[in-house]
Amino acid sequence: MSIYPSMKLIENWFSERYSDNLQLSFRVSDQLLSVKTDFQRIDVFETYDFGKLLSIDGTVQLTEKDEFVYHDMITRMPFYYSDTPPENALVIGGGDGGAAGELLKLGLKSITNVEIDGQVVEVCKKHFPSLTASFNDPKVNLVIDDGIKYVNNSKEKFDMVIIDSTDPVGPAEDLFNEKFYSNVYRILKDGGVVVTQSGSPFYQPRAIELANKGMKKSFPYVASYVAFIPTYPSGFWSFTMAKKSEIKLRTEKVQNGNYFNLEIARSSFALPEFAKKLTL
Ligand code: SAM
Repeated sequence: MSIYPSMKLIENWFSERYSDNLQLSFRVSDQLLSVKTDFQRIDVFETYDFGKLLSIDGTVQLTEKDEFVYHDMITRMPFYYSDTPPENALVIGGGDGGAAGELLKLGLKSITNVEIDGQVVEVCKKHFPSLTASFNDPKVNLVIDDGIKYVNNSKEKFDMVIIDSTDPVGPAEDLFNEKFYSNVYRILKDGGVVVTQSGSPFYQPRAIELANKGMKKSFPYVASYVAFIPTYPSGFWSFTMAKKSEIKLRTEKVQNGNYFNLEIARSSFALPEFAKKLTL
């Protein structure tokens, strides 16, 4: 027995650094993979409290335990705020397959998923097979390409465009600018919705500001909404949607998720003052 009763054996931790002075740490039992691709560094950890965790460039992308919040809110919100039930969608990013999976549950007939980094898909197939199962469905067309280039060249029009990307640095930087959103406007059908994840209003004010400013240049109706995602910085996360027509909820035949329901659909647009200011 140790002569130091409070001494612990060696412990391993994965930490996402928010600043030089602040980090969120997960105690991990194993590091399952670490790979450097042409675009980014990908790591997978087995954590004690959140199951497997996918990190890209040191930032949490998803965990088995709380991915449902993010994937509900990036799919069901635009689905029920579209003027009519959407039939086709374009997902940009989303190489884990989680967004495509939720869209299949909502009954979409065709989903094009454009992910820039094929290695994200391969890693997720190995470690998050229940999410990537969506890519085996014939209704899902997985394209490995830059989403910006894809949108620029697309002749097809979509009922929903879902930007399920990393934060506005590196390959995702230009997914937050007004030129990109003006191309999204061109390929979005009239009653449709475009939505992007727009970061933590508290720790990453730039993402929600960029999304609002950029979308407002092209779209008459833009609004940010928020969700509680425990493993993202501050746990308080934003998404920003835009439409060519009024942002109005469709309440018929609503399919709840594990987070999403009608009360959430209505109340998630309520922003505290500090966050509202970032959207003006
Ligand atoms: N849930 C996540 C979050 O907000 O932290 C997003 C997850 S998903 C894994 C993000 C994906 O966006 C990454 O796999 C990344 O490779 C992809 N991505 C980044 N820039 C992209 C681009 N320009 N075109 C297509 N995919 C892109």
